[in-house]
Amino acid sequence: MALRKLVAGNWKMNGSLAALAELDAIAAAAAAHPGLDVAICPPFPLIQAAVQRQPALAIGAQDCHTGTSGAHTGDVAAALIADVGGRYAIVGHSERRADHGEDDALVRAKAEAAIAAGLVAIVCVGETEAERDAGRAVAVVEGQLDGSVPPAGTGATLVVAYEPVWAIGTGRTPSAGDVGEMHGAIRARLQTLLGGEGAKVRILYGGSVKPANAAELMAVADVDGALVGGASLTAEQFVPIIAGAA
Ligand code: PEP
Repeated sequence: MALRKLVAGNWKMNGSLAALAELDAIAAAAAAHPGLDVAICPPFPLIQAAVQRQPALAIGAQDCHTGTSGAHTGDVAAALIADVGGRYAIVGHSERRADHGEDDALVRAKAEAAIAAGLVAIVCVGETEAERDAGRAVAVVEGQLDGSVPPAGTGATLVVAYEPVWAIGTGRTPSAGDVGEMHGAIRARLQTLLGGEGAKVRILYGGSVKPANAAELMAVADVDGALVGGASLTAEQFVPIIAGAA
C-alpha cells in the first residue's frame, strides 16, 4: 500500500529568526506538491514565529517532555508545542539518545505525550556502524521499535524514522538494497506491534539525504518519506528533495 509521503526537515541546533525566510520557498514547494506532506522542525524558540510566517506549512519540534507541566527546568511540554501551532514532535533522535542518555522507555513515553497533546510523533531508530558491521542492524532496530513504539500508535498519530547513526551528517548512505531490507523489516515489526495500523504508519529514511539521492531513496519500497537534517536548512537544498519525493 503506497502511503502519503512526508518530507520533514530537522534543523537541529541551527537557525535564527532571519533564517525563517527560507520557509517562504519551502512553503511554496509544499503547496506545489499537494500529494505529500512537508514539515520543518526548528529549535523551540522559532516554532511560533515559523507558524506565523507560513501558517500552511507544518511546523514541529525536535523533542518534548513526557509530562504536561511542572517542575522540569528547561524542558518543553508537548501541549505547549501544540498551543503555539506545532504539529509534529521528533522523539528519540540518535543525538538525543547519545547526548542525553535517552532510552527506549523514555522515547516511548515522549511519543505518548506528543500523541496525547495532538501532535504526530516521529520516533527515530537506527543502528551504529559497529552494530551494522556485526550483522546486528535489523535486530538492533527491531529492539528499538519494541521499546519505543507506543502500543496505541496509529497511521495518523505515529511516524517512524529509520536513521542509521553512521549516515547522519556524514555524506554516506546505505545502498538502496540495505534501505529496502531495513524498511521491510520495520514494516513487519510495526505490523506485529500495532496490527493493521502497522501497515499505515509512515517509515521515513534519514541520513545524508540530498537533492542528488532523494529520488532514488524515496523510490525504495516502504520508504514513505525522508527526515532531512543538514539539507533542510536552505530552500535551495530542501526544495529539490521535496520534488524528488513527489
Ligand atoms: C538527522 O539528523 O535527522 C539527519 C538525517 O541529518 P542529515 O540529513 O544531516 O544526515
